[in-house]
Amino acid sequence: MKLAIFSPNRFEKPFLEAANRTRGHELHWIDARLSPQTAALARGFDAVSGFTGDDFSRPVLAALAAGGTRLIALRSAGFNHVDLAAADELGITVLRVPAYSPYAIAEHTVALILALNRKLHRAIPRVREQNFSLDGLMGFDLNGKTIGIVGTGQIGAIFAKIMTGFGCRLIAYDIAPSPACVALGASYVSLGELAAQSDVISLHCPLTPQTHHLVSHQFLASCKPGCMIINTSRGAVIDTKAAIDGLKSGRIGALGLDVYEEEGDLFFQDLSDKVITDDVFARLMTFPNVIVTAHQGFFTREAVGNIADTTMQNITDFAAGAIRPENRVTAAKIKRR
Ligand code: NAD
Repeated sequence: MKLAIFSPNRFEKPFLEAANRTRGHELHWIDARLSPQTAALARGFDAVSGFTGDDFSRPVLAALAAGGTRLIALRSAGFNHVDLAAADELGITVLRVPAYSPYAIAEHTVALILALNRKLHRAIPRVREQNFSLDGLMGFDLNGKTIGIVGTGQIGAIFAKIMTGFGCRLIAYDIAPSPACVALGASYVSLGELAAQSDVISLHCPLTPQTHHLVSHQFLASCKPGCMIINTSRGAVIDTKAAIDGLKSGRIGALGLDVYEEEGDLFFQDLSDKVITDDVFARLMTFPNVIVTAHQGFFTREAVGNIADTTMQNITDFAAGAIRPENRVTAAKIKRR
């Protein structure tokens, strides 16, 4: 098929080219984010591939459909940036990569917890400056602490398993509890109870209307003072302004983010010569107990290879009229969840 690849990251190209070697699609790299302004560049392409920062809103999808596009091949698991109802109405099939390495994201979550707890982000530059003082670097034993997991799907369940190795107590909140997590010893509780009991809260649910700003002023008011919150799911699961208030009051003792509500304007690009105009993000960067990574949870060799392979296979399957139902996302399917 003739494929327009929007927002191609430098790191993805060799993996996508390798995955296409045996499949033979016609790849066109478009070094721009998909948006109402750039949608016309896809005119005449049967398939369009996008990354997490691309805009698949109704007007963009309408422009793509008018240009002949029949398939959106997402190079991600998340699909909150796609107007699925519009895609269905316009006859555009949306395929994603539902699983590529849940280990990558679960392990990055643990990296954020350990780095924040033992203050590695402050300790490493300090030693480089020959400052060997330990002032301000005290952490806590994870052993015996309560970990609250919101969303115990593929990633949340692996994260739960890893944390049992640290000797943690697990509690969880999910609309569909996982027998695997129960078998690990996790107890399912209400969201309010999870907030009240957890020393560390880790978010692994998708971004949906129900989870949008799940971490709000109200949620934080129920949290243990000084709790740690980690978000490797989607930025808007946290109301960032509420989190900033929580950091200022001390309600949040440490915040680890791999995702940010407005990351589309920042992440996956080098802005080191630019002035950041997002004041909320700039404020976050002033806290000594905040670590932000730029959506790198998925970023392992295994995961990037699997994303490329499934994306190309999705396109091959679509061309052959044999798509894998588990890779397809539709508005109706999401409503049934
Ligand atoms: P999954 O679908 O396997 O699991 C999601 C879980 O969330 C399910 O158990 C589901 O029942 C639960 N859930 C849905 N709505 C909920 C709600 N209202 N309240 C509580 N729980 C709810 O997904 P996954 O593969 O584990 O991925 C989880 C999220 O991680 C993705 O949606 C994506 O946003 C994010 N993600 C981030 C990265 C990264 O690089 N940081 C990479 C991949 C995925």
